[in-house]
Amino acid sequence: MRRGVHKPPEPDDPLCCCEYVDRKGGRSHVAACCCDCEDLDEACDRWLKREAQKPDSLSRVADSVADRLRVPWLKGAKRVDLSLLPPLVLLPVLLRIAALHVLLGVVVLTALPGMVLWYYYFTHRKKGRTLFFLSLALFSLAYMYFLFVTEIVPRGDVTSAQLATVTTGVILTLISLVRTKRGPGYVRPHPSDTHSTVTYHGPLPDKDHLNGARHQVVIANRGAALEHAANGEAVEAGPQQTDSKRKNWCPWCKLVRPPRAGHCRICSACVQRLDHHCVWINSCVGRANHRSFLMTLLLFLLTSLYGISLVLRTVCPRQNVLFALLYCPGVYSQYSSALCFTCAWYSSMVTGGLLHLLLLQVINVSYNVTEREARLALRDKTARTLLWGLVIDTGVYSQGFRHNWAHFLTMADHLEQSSSPAFTELV
Ligand SMILES: [Zn+2]
Ligand SMILES: [Zn+2]
Repeated sequence: MRRGVHKPPEPDDPLCCCEYVDRKGGRSHVAACCCDCEDLDEACDRWLKREAQKPDSLSRVADSVADRLRVPWLKGAKRVDLSLLPPLVLLPVLLRIAALHVLLGVVVLTALPGMVLWYYYFTHRKKGRTLFFLSLALFSLAYMYFLFVTEIVPRGDVTSAQLATVTTGVILTLISLVRTKRGPGYVRPHPSDTHSTVTYHGPLPDKDHLNGARHQVVIANRGAALEHAANGEAVEAGPQQTDSKRKNWCPWCKLVRPPRAGHCRICSACVQRLDHHCVWINSCVGRANHRSFLMTLLLFLLTSLYGISLVLRTVCPRQNVLFALLYCPGVYSQYSSALCFTCAWYSSMVTGGLLHLLLLQVINVSYNVTEREARLALRDKTARTLLWGLVIDTGVYSQGFRHNWAHFLTMADHLEQSSSPAFTELV
């Protein structure tokens, strides 16, 4: 049974909360999620007739399922990203299995980071966007807090003040995460700059993408743009300017980006003072959110370390909290204690990884180097490395420890105060 031809929504007939525009441009309804799937019909027909499936038939069925999995929302149903779901099922199941026996705990807590790392490199290689890691991070935080409240607090060893401290830490971490998610500071040409262009000659990094070698380049420099506008003409760039612009030219965004900006292939955008793309927040870390990213890390680590110490004090009361994670006799004799102990191990592993990340970030800020610059300098062999590679000093932007930190702590403020601060950085 097939419906007629899909019709796109009319402008004067807006979508209700249960309707949406599907991937083929037609108007559909969440209640029709199981109806009229031509891709599925065709795959079933071929299977029943014992004919070979088309090479892309399964992926088309998967695309249809992903397109139809929606939740009602204002002005049209929203698509549910399937990568959100695995952590919601896998994490509680695996941690509960790990709590059954110490050997199962060792296997699960070894395999879990391995699986996450494998998926990280798999998605990183494909440069694909996924909500898996953000979902895992948020659900881990929520699940650990849930177990703390339901398994540890009722035992009576945690005071109200300690519970309030952990709760405040979780809330502040989430608030800081929301601030970080506001955006890294994308490089965008200002509308008033678009009248000023430079005729750009010569070979470009990605000819296929650009379909040619002569382009009108939007200058990401308001000062220069105004100067050119005052002359009332497009300007031929000089050799030095052209070299600099060619170096900073982004073939994907088609603009000349300011110094220290970089293109993120996952976000498909240029980001001011790009540090790195963080899969755990599903966003780039750049000039606008680097400070709040570090604050999120710090708040999470403090809350996590405090929470872990409270859990270990409760389930291993006779042991010193520093050694309880390594030796806690009798903890597996009670399932509830074993589950809390397993979660303390899981949280410690996550905390250890993030502590290492925070340490690298603090060192980079102290030397005024971004993660991207450090990686490029290592590739080009232009960086000085110290302390077994922990410190990577490019020596390009560093102006001393205090100045570097002052610059880092105030750079986002400059961004907010200026209407288009990124454009003023180009020299
Ligand atoms: Zn770009
Ligand atoms: Zn990105």
